[in-house]
Amino acid sequence: MNKPLIAGNWKMHGNADNAAELAKHLALHDITFAGVDVVVFPPAVHLERVVVAVANSAVGVGAQNMSQWASGAYTGEISGDMLKDIGCHYVLVGHSERRILFAESSQLVAEKFDAAQKQGLTPILCVGESLQQRQQGQTVEVVTAQIAAVINLVGIENLCKGVVAYEPVWAIGTGEVASPEQAQAVHAEIRSQLGSQGANTRLIYGGSVKASNAGAIFAQPDIDGGLVGGASLEATEFSKIAQLMVQG
Ligand code: PEP
Repeated sequence: MNKPLIAGNWKMHGNADNAAELAKHLALHDITFAGVDVVVFPPAVHLERVVVAVANSAVGVGAQNMSQWASGAYTGEISGDMLKDIGCHYVLVGHSERRILFAESSQLVAEKFDAAQKQGLTPILCVGESLQQRQQGQTVEVVTAQIAAVINLVGIENLCKGVVAYEPVWAIGTGEVASPEQAQAVHAEIRSQLGSQGANTRLIYGGSVKASNAGAIFAQPDIDGGLVGGASLEATEFSKIAQLMVQG
């Protein structure tokens, strides 16, 4: 099994004090996550506070988004270099909320993945189908096409150095979690799409993960961890989820 990764996507929640407090709690308990990479993704304006709060702990920090460009006249954008400079090591690319609400295409997501790697960050590529696509039997087609767009730009070797998060859109923030079998089936398809290098690529599941359902999901052979939204805002709940990966 690959080294487990538990990522907490805080989305656009909280204020600077909440963010620092949550990060400090996780940092204080990092010993309980031994053998698991635990990474939090605060809102961009709280990144520096969080980096300071987790300093000298095993907790990592990542950004929820970044620009595909390295620098220039791009008002409001943040580059990978800037994120790296303040202590980030990871970045989410292609989260479904960005694909749907901000019209990010698979091509743009691929460009962000590429820029992240070139600027020294590990991208977590989020992929997943809508409810309608699942009902129409298009899950594998949709997910593999989202991944293929990145492979076409960066090559399979570079894709495999990143992380892939399978996040069915119908399970994000809805309380409706994919069954362990549904998640495993898609992860196995992704693993086979990645060929011989796929065995070493971290594939994580996201979509309404909680301490009460994570154990069964993490027990699946092709699931190397989780991308957790809502439940990552509660320190004890998120810690419990990470600890399940230690046992698991
Ligand atoms: C997410 O935002 O990536 C996510 C999986 O959210 P939630 O856990 O709240 O469904």
